[in-house]
Amino acid sequence: MTSRHILVVEDEEKIASLLCDYLKEAGFRTSTQNNGDRVLAQIKKDPLDLILLDIMLPGKNGIELCREIRQFSNIPIIMITARVEEIDRLLGLELGADDYICKPFSPREVVARVKAIFRRMHAEPLTHNLVIGSISLDDKTHQVMIDKQVLNLTPNEFGLLKIMMRRPNRVFSRSELINRVQGYDFEGYDRTIDSHIKNLRKKIAQKLPGQEIITTVYGVGYKFSASSD
Ligand code: CA
Repeated sequence: MTSRHILVVEDEEKIASLLCDYLKEAGFRTSTQNNGDRVLAQIKKDPLDLILLDIMLPGKNGIELCREIRQFSNIPIIMITARVEEIDRLLGLELGADDYICKPFSPREVVARVKAIFRRMHAEPLTHNLVIGSISLDDKTHQVMIDKQVLNLTPNEFGLLKIMMRRPNRVFSRSELINRVQGYDFEGYDRTIDSHIKNLRKKIAQKLPGQEIITTVYGVGYKFSASSD
């Protein structure tokens, strides 16, 4: 099996080389790019499997780049930001990145996140069946089962669960969830999401008492928590 190729877009040379060292150690191939204006050409030229994308760059910044890449590619993107407060804003922009990491980070953590994305991609079923732990969701029949018991959900609850189960451990902002479930922005209806989530949690808790499956990420939103083996 050829090793996966990761592009590290980062203008701080020390950080870029540290990341590359750790990624290579983990068995990946790496390339680097330190100028935002040269990223698109590089992506189109090299077959890549994942991009680590710093936001503050000379030339085009990571936000512009993420948007442009998403117009032609579904390649996994992990955005790197210098400020933890920025993650909420980034989620709100709905750039389509797969994950967000804040500086300063441990290179080990970055490698773990990269591996998690590849594992999820690999695990993504061809059918419409999502199974995480004891919860399984069938997109065709709109049925959710926990330990072989049916969970009766409303269409909104089902939609929310599906979105979060597709990307376990990825945090979704309220506006992102509203947008994805209802297909458009429901401005000011954040509390609607909160009540759907509350009901969804209640139903899950009846079958899985004491387990926190849907986690609140304070100040950001919600995620489906799955242990990373
Ligand atoms: Ca930078």
